[in-house]
Amino acid sequence: MPLEFITTRELVDKAGAVKGMVKLMKLVEEPDALVEYVCPMCGFSEKKKVAWAEPFVTGTGANKKFCVQCGKCGFQMKFLKLKKEAAKGKKGK
Ligand SMILES: [Zn+2]
Repeated sequence: MPLEFITTRELVDKAGAVKGMVKLMKLVEEPDALVEYVCPMCGFSEKKKVAWAEPFVTGTGANKKFCVQCGKCGFQMKFLKLKKEAAKGKKGK
């Protein structure tokens, strides 16, 4: 199945320590993205489908931003689409 977007990120708590992570996968033919995360604030982990639209995704093209909210403590895990990810498969690096 063709992928539209996939990423894995480390997540930091408010003190800047890496305590969580998020994986995001979006297939071209699916309207929803699959998100798996470990919350850096409370340690809660979950796998869920989220609609590929606001408020989860904002911005367009290489300026996309993502926001995943922890299902337990409500902490908002925000991250940007990386430029190198936008160019993946074209540079071979
Ligand atoms: Zn949490």
